[in-house]
Amino acid sequence: MFKGIFGRKVGMTQVYDAEGNIATVTVVAAEPCVVVQTKRADGPDGYEAIVVGFGEAKKPIKPHEGRFKKLGLPMEAGVFNQFSDQVSRVEEKDDHFLYYIDRCPVCWGRKTDKPVCYAATGLLQESLRWLSGGKEFRIDETSCIGVGDTSCTFKIYKEPIG
Ligand SMILES: [Zn+2]
Repeated sequence: MFKGIFGRKVGMTQVYDAEGNIATVTVVAAEPCVVVQTKRADGPDGYEAIVVGFGEAKKPIKPHEGRFKKLGLPMEAGVFNQFSDQVSRVEEKDDHFLYYIDRCPVCWGRKTDKPVCYAATGLLQESLRWLSGGKEFRIDETSCIGVGDTSCTFKIYKEPIG
């Protein structure tokens, strides 16, 4: 555990102690610190840390641009652009999105008797948890290339579970 004082070096000076000895000291201006962010070992960052803001901020600290403006808001279609690294499409419905993966890395070239893309489901869930600042979204795989469908389809509910 690190303990210390954050300060700004102002300069050097000399002081006399009670016995009249002279000592050279560094003058430090200690100013209030603000914890601007916490990271948790079980969170998306994978380690414990705090981010400390010190002195005057040059510009206001904005949350990650891709994150939802308020926690718990229903998901927006735009979030899917953040992990469109796979061949995928998104359809927006009333209370859910349909996320299609046309070339699923999990079951591509496999034959199974039920949807097997738990890894993709988990990855989606993780991404959404990160993007939403810790919210859990319900995701069902409704079709799967592995069982003969043309794409793996994930039904993603917009309303977070918790
Ligand atoms: Zn699949």
